[in-house]
Amino acid sequence: MADAVGADGVVPRARPDGPLMDFWQPAYIGVGSNLNDPRSQVLRAFGSLAEISDTRVVLVSRLYSSQPAGPVAQPDFVNAVAGVITRLSAEALLVQLRAIESAFGRPDRHEKWGPRVIDLDILVFGRERRTGPDLTLPHPGVVERNFVLYPLADIAPDLEVPGLGRVAGLKGRIASTGLRAL
Ligand code: ADP
Ligand code: MG
Repeated sequence: MADAVGADGVVPRARPDGPLMDFWQPAYIGVGSNLNDPRSQVLRAFGSLAEISDTRVVLVSRLYSSQPAGPVAQPDFVNAVAGVITRLSAEALLVQLRAIESAFGRPDRHEKWGPRVIDLDILVFGRERRTGPDLTLPHPGVVERNFVLYPLADIAPDLEVPGLGRVAGLKGRIASTGLRAL
């Protein structure tokens, strides 16, 4: 069935299942790609993030080129971070990110360290700290990955990463090896 058009002519966005929080939380999303013109994939992903219901993109970082980590030989990545506010829960936001990854053609099963057309990770969600099979917050890579910390510091140098410290301080401990602002 087609969406009903409201009196203002705006088609309401589909709501994900699950309760909405009655307050807005800040969250930071890591965006990466190293396939099919990675730069344009990252820019397109910013647009898709802006389409998630009950979520607003507030800031995006510069784009960075980074050299791949891990055992698989593959093209360089383009990485960036988006700052959003959202009324979705962290789980509901992750569902939306997985849906965007699928829409970009990322297969559900893939090599852990392999190339990808898009990767969307929740780096930080409010003050949440948790470890689980589907969701670990803050994202375990935040403190060690320069391609996360440098773009995050572009938009949120004063952010306190729950349990880990301030972004600018964390960034100061990690070399920019292999990283280049585009
Ligand atoms: P990676 O991003 O580590 O290269 P994937 O994108 O394939 O690998 O994610 C692997 C799994 O990581 C997913 O099944 C997801 O449920 C889980 N995961 C755990 N914490 C997070 C998080 N904070 N953000 C995104 N995915 C997460
Ligand atoms: Mg991921």
